[in-house]
Amino acid sequence: GDFGGFGFGGFGGLDDIFGEFFGFGTRTQARQGPHRGSDLRYDMAISFEEAVFGSDKEIEVTRLETCLTCQGSGAEPGTTPSRCPECQGTGQVRQARQSIFGAFVNVTTCPRCQGRGEVVVTPCSTCHGDQRVERPRKLMVDIPPGVDDGMRIRLSGEGEAGLYGGPAGNLYVILHVEPHPYFHRRDHDILLNLNITIVQAALGDEITVPTLEGEEKLSIPAGTQTGAVFRVKGAGVPNLRRSGRGDEIVIVNVAVPTHLNEEQKQLLVELGKTLGSEVIPQGGKGFFERLREALGL
Ligand SMILES: [Zn+2]
Ligand SMILES: [Zn+2]
Repeated sequence: GDFGGFGFGGFGGLDDIFGEFFGFGTRTQARQGPHRGSDLRYDMAISFEEAVFGSDKEIEVTRLETCLTCQGSGAEPGTTPSRCPECQGTGQVRQARQSIFGAFVNVTTCPRCQGRGEVVVTPCSTCHGDQRVERPRKLMVDIPPGVDDGMRIRLSGEGEAGLYGGPAGNLYVILHVEPHPYFHRRDHDILLNLNITIVQAALGDEITVPTLEGEEKLSIPAGTQTGAVFRVKGAGVPNLRRSGRGDEIVIVNVAVPTHLNEEQKQLLVELGKTLGSEVIPQGGKGFFERLREALGL
């Protein structure tokens, strides 16, 4: 167990009762064995495009590595650890105390050797007996295509070195995806808000929309309303765990001009006369309803 056991000299029965009551299953503590190295965390900022397409990035971490001079023993090369003089190599120290029950023997892990039974007499001059030294290390991080903000990548065994032959910890790279100036991410789809003119909306047009890899042609049909949604198939984010890609979803906003010159104003007045000046209440579906439908929400 993690706690030292109790021994009651002359009160063997009580020992068992107390042992069960406190959950101390063993009378003696196990010798301290190999110790796993600590995990490390590295926060990495990546661009929107790197998250979509993946990237290999080099990072530098400063971590505790096994000392090469002593190969992690902590002893100066050519010297060997010797038997601990405090516990005579048993790894445990017994202390007798008096209590109302009588003699009371407390067995604890030897503080000198931490229970290993041997001590380094001549510490390694490089690590001063610590077995490990802090060292900067360059590592390559393979970011697969399709990762998203907040995901973490595990680099097994790239954390801090273990002690007494224990394994190294892991390095966890936490991804922080920077926002894009005009694309937004929704799982595997890319959203793009796009302004078109009232003329393009009314008459229809073939327009060019930006994609993550360049641009694509998109046909806007005549009579397109604000909130109309178009899909550029396969222009979204690659799926992290299976094949295929999401889409780019273009959400159209019909931009009403705010700065008109006299000629343009006159043209609209003429147009208005032909359309009739009454404001007709909107029937059918509203902007958000159409958007929700298009996104499948
Ligand atoms: Zn000792
Ligand atoms: Zn060393």
